[in-house]
Amino acid sequence: MAKNVVGANGAMFNSCHRYKEIPLIFELSKPGLCGWQSPQCDVPRLALEELLPAEAISASPPPLPELSEPDVVRHYVNLSAMNFSVDTHFYPLGSCTMKYNPKRNERLASLPGMLALHPYQPDETVQGMLELLYQCQQMLAEIAGLPAVSLQPAAGAQGELTALLVAAAYFRDRGQQRSVVLIPDSAHGTNPASAALAGFRTVTVRSTAQGLVDLDDLRSKLSPDVALMMITNPNTLGLFEREIVQIAQLLHEAGAVLYLDGANMNAIMGIVRPGDFGADLMHFNPHKTFSGPHGGGGPGAGPIAVSERLAPYLPVPAIVKQGDKYRLDYDRPKSIGRMRSFLGNVGVLVRMFCYIRTHGPEGLRKVAEHALLNANYLLARIKKVLPVPYGERCMHEFVASAAGLKAQRDISAMDIAKRLLDYGFHAPTVYFPLIVREALMIEPTETESKATLDGFADAVAQIVQEPVEQLHQAPHNMPISRPDEVAAARRPVLKWTAPAPEARINW
Ligand SMILES: *Cc1c(COP(=O)(O)O)cnc(C)c1O
Repeated sequence: MAKNVVGANGAMFNSCHRYKEIPLIFELSKPGLCGWQSPQCDVPRLALEELLPAEAISASPPPLPELSEPDVVRHYVNLSAMNFSVDTHFYPLGSCTMKYNPKRNERLASLPGMLALHPYQPDETVQGMLELLYQCQQMLAEIAGLPAVSLQPAAGAQGELTALLVAAAYFRDRGQQRSVVLIPDSAHGTNPASAALAGFRTVTVRSTAQGLVDLDDLRSKLSPDVALMMITNPNTLGLFEREIVQIAQLLHEAGAVLYLDGANMNAIMGIVRPGDFGADLMHFNPHKTFSGPHGGGGPGAGPIAVSERLAPYLPVPAIVKQGDKYRLDYDRPKSIGRMRSFLGNVGVLVRMFCYIRTHGPEGLRKVAEHALLNANYLLARIKKVLPVPYGERCMHEFVASAAGLKAQRDISAMDIAKRLLDYGFHAPTVYFPLIVREALMIEPTETESKATLDGFADAVAQIVQEPVEQLHQAPHNMPISRPDEVAAARRPVLKWTAPAPEARINW
């Protein structure tokens, strides 16, 4: 009988499949064990009743686990070692740009002068940080080819929302009613989600057989109701939209604006600037492109850059320079207001600053060139084993398909992804973009060596030869095998429930 089990991370695992149950720290608790010692208190103790109102005092103490210090340390260190990470494994997760980030930037962001700042300090006492952030704005403006920047958004998706609200405010200010956002069928899911959240209706634009935006379909969907198009370039198939200048022209002729999803800037920074190919607004993902730690859900950042005519609508405060002083400017009557507390995820922005300043313009260009070289090398090796439906050459990532294997031998993209874990590789992104069946979206990034890329390609070549039964049950060597992902998403168990009262600690 299938039985649902709650794993250490709160997800539900179906015990039909192999799993090794990892006890929670509460389940490891043994009454009487203790991880701390303190000397006898020599200060007269007040009774709780003298300190707190009666209704604030709990009848029983909280049921905290009782363990020795080594047990606690081992529990958490062992849990941490169950994960794949960029520091432990090759992580070719397409679209996410999981590159290695220099530890030096972590150290610089942890300097006491950075960490000890308080966001409520007056401007004149944080001139150094304001200067750093001001320079971040200038550097991003230069990389984007767009003059005005807000560092405030907390992630790429919030950058999208912020930019969409900026565009909405711009059209409202001009007395125009425009309610439609055009989105290619290869787009990342956050694009339509952000558009809906900002109050727009989305209309899908088809891709051609080559995996690029279909200009005829775009033309047929342009109307005075279209506010903007959101486009990712290079797109999620890892292809550069060659007709981007014409796409921008078509939108501008229709009175609409072009939004660039900058998640793939790793492929083009230092080579082309979105503002130069016609984008009016864009976001950056510093955790993908510029040395933000990435994984475990963040924190990221999502700065946006916009053209001159959209600048008045950016969030407040703006960081401005007056003479040789920096200050926060709230006096922007057309601003959409605040999108996030304080100045954004400053810790991530500091790492971004270090990364950009370390590389300089030439270095950033080399990052992009090496990302392209690595991706094309891996593409050339993988396509001997799995077809890559779109593109002889790619930018920084490519999408292979297991559709043929699925039809012939019942081996899916998921089976390959799961089996790769046994070989010590994080799986690529699977089943995205939606326009490729049985998609495996592979992004090696620029920080991997040829030996690592060869090891990965060899593993894929070997996996597709393995007996199908072995693949269906993979992974075989992981702490858990195949979690019930639907149950984990629909019925997550996020809370530990205390055992019956008699099992509780006697305080
Ligand atoms: C990652 C990504 C996003 C969303 O960015 P977050 O920083 O994760 O919110 C949007 N579009 C594309 C193409 C992406 O890869």
